[in-house]
Amino acid sequence: MIDLSGKRALVTGGGAGIGRATALLLAELGARVVVADIDTEAGASTAKEVAGTFVRCDVSRRTDCEQAVRTAQNQLGGVDVLFNNAGIIRRSTVCEISDDDWDLVMAVNIRSILLMSRLVIPGMVSRGGGSIVNTGSGWGISGGSRAVSYCASKGAVVNMTRAMAIDHGPDLVRVNCVCPGDTATGMLAEEARQLGERADAFYEDAADRPLGRIGQPRDIAQTVAFLASDASAFISGAIIPVDGGGTA
Ligand code: NAD
Repeated sequence: MIDLSGKRALVTGGGAGIGRATALLLAELGARVVVADIDTEAGASTAKEVAGTFVRCDVSRRTDCEQAVRTAQNQLGGVDVLFNNAGIIRRSTVCEISDDDWDLVMAVNIRSILLMSRLVIPGMVSRGGGSIVNTGSGWGISGGSRAVSYCASKGAVVNMTRAMAIDHGPDLVRVNCVCPGDTATGMLAEEARQLGERADAFYEDAADRPLGRIGQPRDIAQTVAFLASDASAFISGAIIPVDGGGTA
């Protein structure tokens, strides 16, 4: 059902975790992929695996985003699928977080979607449509403890997705949001570190959800591949938890 032959995809944060798994799966299903990441070694390694192109890009910087889209334009001839996935977390309350950390989380998690999307949408429109998938979080739907900037940014991703879907639907640009629950990536280990908890205990707690386990990056990638494909042609503005029932 999911055939991505002929699709050209740009994946942010494709060097590790969910972005990496998604770049691999999109390529497996026939897409040509450009990997954008702030981490040169990790991003280049994913790009090599998918026989694609790597572009170093800090998604919070306008000029870097311009370079990423230019690279996709030059290498692939355009972008049919944009996966706005790069993200960071700071585990702190409003009383604990610094102004700089607040601004950084907002810039990486939400402003990046503005910067990247407005560069690719005109091309999608001229080619008759496209698919943008934003990475939200279960914490874009409900709140969580000591993650105030992250929750604020992911709540914004969720509602920005709806606003974009409304604005660009008439041009057949679909915009959807995948909301992972706790998923086994570097970010989850980083959260345990920030909270001063042992990773194994943290992972065990995170598995306490209806399906009884944490997510694997490929669990999320499979939903993104579906949203990228024509199999989801009538889906736009959807907020899809992929979390083993965690938000249920
Ligand atoms: P990860 O830390 O494993 O990977 C994130 C990737 O993004 C890395 O390759 C990193 O180098 C890159 N990155 C970080 N800052 C960047 C920047 N400024 N510019 C470009 N690239 C940058 O994290 P992950 O778990 O794969 O997270 C991917 C997305 O999924 C994030 O948006 C995250 O908020 C979301 N998410 C993750 C979980 C989870 O439990 N892992 C849960 C919900 C949502």
